[in-house]
This record gives sequence, C-alpha cells and structure tokens, in this order.
Amino acid sequence: MGMPSLTFLGAARTVTGSKHLLEVDGRRVLVDCGLFQGLKDLRLRNWAALPIDAKAIDAVVLTHAHLDHCGYLPRLVSQGFRGRIFCTPGTKDLCSLVLPDSARIQEEDARQANRHHYTKHSPALPLYTENDAARALELLQPVGYDRPVPVVPGITVDFINAGHLLGSAYARVRLGDKTILFGGDLGRYGRPVLPDPSPVAAADVLLLESTYGDRLHEPDDDSMHLAEVINRTAGRGGRLIIPSFAIGRVEEVLYWLKRLEDARRIPVLPVYVDSPMAIAALQFYMKRMNELDPELHAAERALCAFCTSRLTTVDSVEQSKALVASRDPAIVIAASGMATGGRVLHHLDAALPDERNTVLFVGYQAAGTRGRSLVDGAKQLKMHGQFVRVLAAIDRLDSMSAHADAGEIMRWLSGFERPPAMTYLVHGEPASLDALGARIGRELGWPVHIADYLERVQLPL
Ligand SMILES: [Zn+2]
Repeated sequence: MGMPSLTFLGAARTVTGSKHLLEVDGRRVLVDCGLFQGLKDLRLRNWAALPIDAKAIDAVVLTHAHLDHCGYLPRLVSQGFRGRIFCTPGTKDLCSLVLPDSARIQEEDARQANRHHYTKHSPALPLYTENDAARALELLQPVGYDRPVPVVPGITVDFINAGHLLGSAYARVRLGDKTILFGGDLGRYGRPVLPDPSPVAAADVLLLESTYGDRLHEPDDDSMHLAEVINRTAGRGGRLIIPSFAIGRVEEVLYWLKRLEDARRIPVLPVYVDSPMAIAALQFYMKRMNELDPELHAAERALCAFCTSRLTTVDSVEQSKALVASRDPAIVIAASGMATGGRVLHHLDAALPDERNTVLFVGYQAAGTRGRSLVDGAKQLKMHGQFVRVLAAIDRLDSMSAHADAGEIMRWLSGFERPPAMTYLVHGEPASLDALGARIGRELGWPVHIADYLERVQLPL
C-alpha cells in the first residue's frame, strides 16, 4: 500500500461543507459531500471548482443525510461523477427527501435572482436542479450497519451507528490492517428517539467533529420547561406554534408531547404536523424503529412513540390554509426551524399578533433569521412583504441538540483503548476547535491536528 493522503475540501475551521478526499494507490474516495451553508463567503465555495475532477472520484461514502454532509452530491453528479455513493438505508431514505427539496430551493433562488436582477450572471443558473438530485439518488448504494463492504478495490468501509440522526454513522475505512474512522457528526448520550453514539475501541486515524467542542448543553429538565409553556398557553386559550427542522427535531418534539400527555402533565390538545417533508421523515423513523433508542423500541414498539392522542398530519396546502385560519387551541409543528421559509411563516403571520399564543423555538437560531429576531425580542417582524406585530409570547428550548457537547465528545473518546496515531479536528468554529484540541492534548495526551481548508496531509499509517 502506498502512502494514503487526505485532503480537507470542507468543514475545515467551519461547520458546513463536509468533504474529505482519501487518495491511496491511485484510488479516490470522497467521504461526505456536503454543502457550505450560512455566510455568503462560505456559500460561494459551493460554486468554486473542486481541486479535483469529479469524474476522477471513484466512490463517495456518506455519514448521514444532513445537507452539510450530503447536499453537494447533485452538484458532483452534474460535474460528471458516475461512481457509487455508499450510505446506510436510513440515510438513503432521508436523502430522497432532502436532496430534491434542496434542488427546488436552488432553482427558486435562481428564479428570484433573475426576476429581481440581483445577479451579475444572466441568466442566473441554479447550483443544481431537481434532475441532478434525481440522478444522484440513483447512485445511492445502501449498506446496513456493521457490514464491511468494498467501495473500491483495496478500500473497505463499514458503518457504525452514530446516534445523531436516523441512518447516521461513522464510516470506518479499512486499508489493509489500518483503519481510518470518519466520525461524521456525533450524537448524544441518554436522549430519547436516537441511541447513544456507539463506542469504538480503536482507530489508527480519527476525524472528529468539534461543533460544541467548547460548550456544554443545558442539562435535561425532563421536559419541565416544555410542559410549562404548553400549560400557560392552554390556560390562555391560545395556540402553540413550534417552528422545527423537518427531520429529526419533529420526532423529538412529538416524543416529549406524547410523554407529557401520557403522564397527564399537559392537557390533551390537537397536535398538527404541518410539513410534507416532516410527515415523510416521520414514516421513515417509524419504519426503522429497530435503529432507534433501544428503550423506545422495547417499551413502545406496539404503540407509537410519536402518536399523541389527537395527532393530525397536514399534507395538502388546502388543509394547511384551513389550519392557519383556525383560532382553536392547538399545538402546531411546522418547518422551517429558523422561520426562514416554509409553512411556518403562515402560522406565524396568523399567530404573532395575538397575545394568547406562544411561539416556541426548539433549535439553534442563526444570525439574520426571523427566528433569531424573535428570540432577541423583536416587536415586529417582516413577513411576505408586510410588518406583523409581535404580541404572542416567544420562548425557546435549548436542550434539543443532536450534537454531542464537549463532555460527551470526551466521554466517547474515553472508550478508545489506544490513541489514534493522529486525530484530525474538523466541523467546528475556530474557538471550539482550539478548546477541544487543547483539552484532548491535556486530558488524553493524544496528538491532534486542526484541519485547514484545502489542506492535504499524508496519513501516518
Ligand atoms: Zn449532522
């Protein structure tokens, strides 16, 4: 075996755009193929040429279906990639939802740019199309957990459950008797719905995410805060609007609602999931209960862990409009999670001017989003071209993150029986990377390297 190299094409000193190119003996495998998201300088990288011809990549391996790990696939295909894309069956399911949806957003952005002429390019083209997304989906090759499979001659991969999202995995790459563990995103311990991140005893090289490398999550309050918000809102005869990411978060919200209802800690209210993508994702979660938290699986297999007594899924636009127009007390879960688009905007439009209502945010709110404005105390909000007064209560829950915090990362690393020859830190902002790198050096004595964008390293194997 020649000297393998790794090139960091994304998620280097930032949290999006995960792409790691492994090269050995003339073979090239790309592990993750994510979109850059967030600030404009980062998003522009999606348009830059890869430092390698897409046709020269032999295979892709995906750790999970979040867009910052898979959302560049249609672009890779439009540039001529024709190899296979290896992932778990759960990741394949979720990709079938998120890739076409992402393509529709790209096409809509291009249409908007052309309509309002805010582009130097004429006409503006989408980063990729629904057709590109469909072609990418055809290349997906599902492989179950813990089943080593050759992805190109001489390189074998097995997927290990990471507990971060349905189908999420670490990809363990074997080159002869050496292993490289691509950690993907690391899940959390003792959370409902998803299992704990699987322990790993050894790897010769480790790639480790650092999103919360300098922070701890709020301790779990057994959904006390959620119960208070619901009881207060119900007491006023109001509605509770929960903006939520369509995949993953909706399942956790429903799980807690069902538990609170069963324990009679909240009144039984109509609960609506108003998002076609969330409804489809929920079905995939229910189809793959055996991959979820074993306790959930054992205790509630016969029932439905997510089915509150008065649960309604809202698929059609007409149903959604009727729900927006209704003033009856209810809990409405709708996407998007940061109120940047989607059906939740119509619910906010109707709910914000009424002081009986509550809007509860359950995820991170990025700078510049409507969600962030609301949690920062905005008294009015621009939606659909008009200002809406904010009289409803605004609240937030910080306990529902899908990423391990610093303590959980260290707990997972403590399962290693010998240190990797090198641990590369990826998928973090500079402060998190520095803090986690220093902590690993101090507490474990492992060699650590913080990866740079487009940096190429020879692996110490
Ligand atoms: Zn993720």
